[in-house]
Amino acid sequence: MNYDAHANIFWGALRALPEKYCRLPGVPESLPALAANYPDLFDDPTRSEESKNAVDAEWRRFIDFPPERAGAARLHFFPGPMDRQVERIGLYRCMLERIVHSLQERNFTAFIKHAGCLSHAMGDAVQPAHITPDPNNFLLSQMLPVPEDPQLLDFHYHTSVEAVTGTCGTLAEPKLLGVSIEEAAWRLSVDVLLAIRHCRRYIIPTVEALFAHDTGRAEQLAAGPVTVAAQLTLDALFSAILIAEKRVGKLPPVDLRLIPPAAERHDLVYGGAILDGNKKMPPNNVPVTPGALRVGGKIVHLPGLGVLPHSGMQFDRSCYMSWILPAGVFRYFTALAGLHAEIGTGGAVAFSVLLDGKTVWNSGRMTAEMEAWNVEIPLGEATELTLRTDDANEGKSFWNNNAYWGRPQLHRSPETEQEK
Ligand SMILES: [Zn+2]
Repeated sequence: MNYDAHANIFWGALRALPEKYCRLPGVPESLPALAANYPDLFDDPTRSEESKNAVDAEWRRFIDFPPERAGAARLHFFPGPMDRQVERIGLYRCMLERIVHSLQERNFTAFIKHAGCLSHAMGDAVQPAHITPDPNNFLLSQMLPVPEDPQLLDFHYHTSVEAVTGTCGTLAEPKLLGVSIEEAAWRLSVDVLLAIRHCRRYIIPTVEALFAHDTGRAEQLAAGPVTVAAQLTLDALFSAILIAEKRVGKLPPVDLRLIPPAAERHDLVYGGAILDGNKKMPPNNVPVTPGALRVGGKIVHLPGLGVLPHSGMQFDRSCYMSWILPAGVFRYFTALAGLHAEIGTGGAVAFSVLLDGKTVWNSGRMTAEMEAWNVEIPLGEATELTLRTDDANEGKSFWNNNAYWGRPQLHRSPETEQEK
């Protein structure tokens, strides 16, 4: 994102906050646009200390982070690719803590500066120029080579895309990301990852528009990621405000179906987990929804994640999904586990739940005629939850091993303030 795009993101989010946060006492009108660019201004090693001090003598307070907690000392020097969002949870936690503290101290200038840095992180995270699979855009330059056109001699897959300024569109109602800073930081990393996956759709049409010298189309496309980044910023600031004012209230359990796993492995032909069903294959690829389990002697349709253990041709005959959890936020995991009652006939699998890599529950061998297990696992201080499914038929019923994790949910610890 360029200077103006970063300013548009932050202004878009501020305008959607409750009225009093748009015009804060003692905050100059020009500050938000500047604060939204603090990381670019102050992370830049080519700028002199004097010129940085002239902008803000206290700049280090806003852009330096304790690396042992944040994972990096500065936003732009973060090791690892943008879509490894779990590694950024510490950074988001530090940013949210600073925003909450500045609100509690009624230091609104500091609030705008910290919030501007967070909005900058959101903008950089979803900028199409940053989220291609390889940072040097080798792959993109092979798939979409620069046409022979004298006007495109200086085209650059990163800087030319980033130079397009998007405006901020209409935002949705802000969403509470968590009842604590810890949970909000975790949830923000999840939402940013989903936003990255969404914004990748802008990469190819933007490059094509630039090749066609269609600036209007490129700007129209650039509004997409700017709006997404503003929504992420709005949700984060809204959550920080409610946490600072101790007004978070209650949140429903987290629906694990909608949280992308940090790591997963599935059968290659089957693909990833199927939302709310399984897939009957062969002969076709069509999802069978909703999922069905045997509960209380009846076949019940319910939301969940359908999986199929790997054939065993390349890996062992299992499949898994692992999620990183914020420590101490959720008290237990619940789900119903069984073979799909209608299309799992003939199959046999064993389900297991692992915490921090250790098996804490195993279903034993199950078939489609058996009642689903009611799984309830205390999470303790675990920070990784893995749902694993193993074939239990020596590979003979591969296509029938339609296993289903029904209604997988994380329940908040009653120890947290808000649920007492
Ligand atoms: Zn930046």
